[in-house]
Amino acid sequence: MSSERKTEPARPASRPFALDPLFRALTALPGVGPKNGKLLEKLVEGPKILDLLWHRPIAFVDRRFSPKVKDAPDGKVVTLALRVNKHFPNARKGLPYKVWCSDETGAINLVFFHAHKDWLEKQLPMDTDVIVSGRVEYFQGNPQIVHPDAIGKPEDRAAIETVEPVYPLTQGITNKLVRKAAGAALGFVPELPEWLDEAHKKRQGWADWNEAVKAAHNPADERGLLPEDKARERLAYDELLANQLTIALVRSRQKKSSGRAFKGTGELRRKIIPALPFELTGAQKRAIAEIDKDMAEASRMMRLLQGDVGSGKTVVAAMAMMNAVENGAQAAFLAPTEILARQHGETLRPWLDAADLRYVVFTGRDKGKARDALTQKIASGEAQIVIGTHAIFQEGVEFNDLGFAVIDEQHRFGVHQRLQLSAKGRGTDILVMTATPIPRTLTLTAYGDMEVSRLDEKPPGRKPVDTRLLDSSHMDEMIDGIARQIKTGARAYWVCPLVEESELIDLAAAEERYDVLHARFGDKVGLVHGRMKPTEKDAVMQKFASGTLDILVATTVIEVGVNVPEATIMVIEHAERFGLSQLHQLRGRVGRGGDKSYCFLLYYGPLGETAKERLSIMRQTEDGFLISEKDLELRGAGDLLGVRQSGMPTFRLAELPAHNELLAAAHDDAKYILGKDPELKTPRGEALRTLLYLFERDQAIAYLRSG
Ligand code: ADP
Ligand code: MG
Repeated sequence: MSSERKTEPARPASRPFALDPLFRALTALPGVGPKNGKLLEKLVEGPKILDLLWHRPIAFVDRRFSPKVKDAPDGKVVTLALRVNKHFPNARKGLPYKVWCSDETGAINLVFFHAHKDWLEKQLPMDTDVIVSGRVEYFQGNPQIVHPDAIGKPEDRAAIETVEPVYPLTQGITNKLVRKAAGAALGFVPELPEWLDEAHKKRQGWADWNEAVKAAHNPADERGLLPEDKARERLAYDELLANQLTIALVRSRQKKSSGRAFKGTGELRRKIIPALPFELTGAQKRAIAEIDKDMAEASRMMRLLQGDVGSGKTVVAAMAMMNAVENGAQAAFLAPTEILARQHGETLRPWLDAADLRYVVFTGRDKGKARDALTQKIASGEAQIVIGTHAIFQEGVEFNDLGFAVIDEQHRFGVHQRLQLSAKGRGTDILVMTATPIPRTLTLTAYGDMEVSRLDEKPPGRKPVDTRLLDSSHMDEMIDGIARQIKTGARAYWVCPLVEESELIDLAAAEERYDVLHARFGDKVGLVHGRMKPTEKDAVMQKFASGTLDILVATTVIEVGVNVPEATIMVIEHAERFGLSQLHQLRGRVGRGGDKSYCFLLYYGPLGETAKERLSIMRQTEDGFLISEKDLELRGAGDLLGVRQSGMPTFRLAELPAHNELLAAAHDDAKYILGKDPELKTPRGEALRTLLYLFERDQAIAYLRSG
C-alpha cells in the first residue's frame, strides 16, 4: 500500500472527501500493477482512476453472430459452440500451440503463441463442449481462430455472445485489460450531490452523474457511442459547465480587481492620423470605437480583436494605446517573437514620433548596461510605450504604471502567460489580437464572454493570391517557375510540414529540401526551424526580409506574423497534412505587396476525396473565417490550430461542434448561477464546487476563496 500511495499527489485540503476514490492511482485497481499501470496511464492520459473513467469506448465488437463452423466467414468475429478434440502442443519454441475443435459441420483450430500448456488444458479440456469467440481466418484452406477473445463453458454462452465495447488502445494494452480495469474503476464511482438544475436535467432526460458514467462504459448499443447519447451528453455538459464556470469566475475576479477608466482626449490621435499612409477602413474605425467604449468604463477590459492576416490590426492597437497614454498610464505591445517585436517597433515608430511619444523596444536580447537603461526607463515611466516580447514579464521588469497591454498573435501565448500578465499591472486593460479566426464556439470555451471586435474588411487594394494544388510529381516544373520569378526579384517561402511524432524527422525533411534547393540556388537559400536559437532564427529571417536570401526553407515557425512584402511565393509541402487554418495563415504571408502572389499547395498523392475537397477549399476562398469554420467541421475542435499548444482548452468528454448547443446552454447556466450565487454558497453552489474539483478546476475554487 505504501508504494501505491506515494504515486498519489497530496489532496487539496478543501476537496470533498467523496471525490477521493476517483483521484486514487490507477494501480489501486485490481489487475493493474506498476508495469501495465504505466501503459494504462499513458493510454488514458493521466494517472488517476478518474482518467480511466473519462476514457470511453469508441466502437463495438458484435459477438452475437453464431454460425456453424462451415458457415463461419473469413475475417469475421463469431461466437462458436465447439467440442474440444485434441491438443497439439508446440513442437518448438516459436511455433504455435494448436487446439483442434469441431462441431457437426466441420473442424477449426484454435491457435496460441507463447502458450501455457497447463492453462490451455484447463480452459479447453479434451472432449468437452466450449464456447469460443474471436475472429475467424483461413490458413491454408482451413478455418482457425488465433488467440480467441473469449473462452467459456456452455453456460457462459449468454455472457460471451454479446456486443462488446471497444476502447481506444495502445501498444501493450488489450481491450480485455481496459474493460476489466474500467469495470473495476466503476466500483470506485461515488454518489455525488447533483449540481445540475433539476428541471433542466429532467427536460434533457439525463441520469444522475454516477449512472451516466456507468452507462458511458456499458453502452447498450451503437447509439450509445454517439455524441447525442444521453449519458454522453450529460457528462459533456458537466465538463462544459465546469469550463464555463471557471472562465466566468476568472473574469468576474478580473473585473472586480480593476476600476480604471481611460477616456481618451483624442489629442494624440489627431497627431498620428495625418502620419498614416492610408485611411482607416470602416472595420478599423468600428473596432477602435468599441475599444474606446470599453476602456472608458471603470471595469477591466478583456477584448479580443480578431482580424485575418493583413486586415490591419496593428494600427487599431496603436490607437487604443493612446487612450492609456493620454491618461498618464503606460501601454505595452507584446509580440510572440523577438523579430516580430522589432518589426512592430519599426511599424509604430513613425506614428509614435508624429505624436512625440517616448517608447522603448525591449526584448530578451538586451543585456547588461543597455538592458538596465531600458528597464530604468520603464520603471520610471519615462517610456510611455513599451514594445517587446513576453520576456518583459518573465524577466522581472517593473512598470511605473501599466494601464493597457496589447497581446499580438494570442494563440502563441498560453493561458498561463495571460494570467501572468494580469498580475503585472493594476487593473490593466487587455486587448488580445489574433489573426486566427477562431469560431465563436472556441472563443467561448477559452475566454467565455470575452468581447470580440472583428476586422471583417480588408484594406483596399489587396490582390488575391493565386492558389494552386499541385501533385508533388510536378515539383521540378514548379521549381523552374520559381527560378524564373526570382530572376525578376520575387522571394519565396518554402514550408516543410510538421510531422507530429518527431521533430527530428521534421527537421530532416526540411534539411533535405534545403540541400536540394541549395544545390540549385546556392547561398540565396536559407533554412529556419524550431530547433534553432532565437537569435539564429531571427538572423535568417532578417536576411530573407532584407533580400540577402531569395528562398526561405522553414518548418512551420514562420507561421506567425512576419511581414516581408516582397515575398510573393509560398510553397507548402505536404499540404495535405496541414489544417486549413494553418494553410490560410501561411498563405497570408504572401500577397502583401503590390505584385501578384502565388501559393503552391504541394501534395503527395493519391489523395482521398475528402482530402481533395479540403484542399480545394483553399482555392475557393481567402476568407479566413469561412476556412476555419470548414476546418472545424472537417477536423473537429481538438485538431484546430493544434489546440494543445494554442492555449485553447481540450475536452475529454465534450465534442465540438457536436455539442455546440450544450456549450451555449452551459454558458448561460454559468452566467445564471453566478448571478444568483456568486460565492457558490447555496446547496447547488456547494454541489457545483464538487463539479469544479471533479474537473480539477482548483484554481477557480481558489478565486472563490480569495474573493
Ligand atoms: P495584421 O492584422 O495582419 O497585423 P497589419 O496591421 O500588419 O495587419 O497590416 C497589414 C498591412 O496593411 C500593413 O502594411 C499596414 O500598413 C496596411 N494597412 C493597415 N490598415 C490599412 C488601411 N486602412 N488601408 C491600407 N493599408 C492598411
Ligand atoms: Mg500583425
